[in-house]
This record gives sequence, structure tokens and C-alpha cells, in this order.
Amino acid sequence: MEAVRVTLTCPECEGPVELAEPVRLSEIAQCGDCSSELEVVELDPVSLSLAPEIEEDWGE
Ligand SMILES: [Zn+2]
Repeated sequence: MEAVRVTLTCPECEGPVELAEPVRLSEIAQCGDCSSELEVVELDPVSLSLAPEIEEDWGE
């Protein structure tokens, strides 16, 4: 089986961000360049937005 991938642009650093098809709304992707968490906010065309930072205690 071949995974179809779509390459998008990171809104933060304009680096390439790959997502596997089918892309789903609200899917979270991480930019490999700047490590930003990105959320799919639109599907046609697919567009990414910075995901809101979740303030959570990860138990450091
Ligand atoms: Zn980035």
C-alpha cells in the first residue's frame, strides 16, 4: 500500500510539513524544522495554523 502524502508549508518558518492523506480537519502535525505544533484548519485547500499552546503539566 502506498501512502499518499501532501506537503504543506509551515506558517511559522515556511519549512515543508508532510501530512499523510487523507488529511483530516483538526489534525495535528509537527514541523520538522521549528518543532511548532500545527493544526489543520481548512481542507480545501489544506491550510495549517499554529496549534494553540496547551498548558499542561507533563510531570517533569
Ligand atoms: Zn516550522
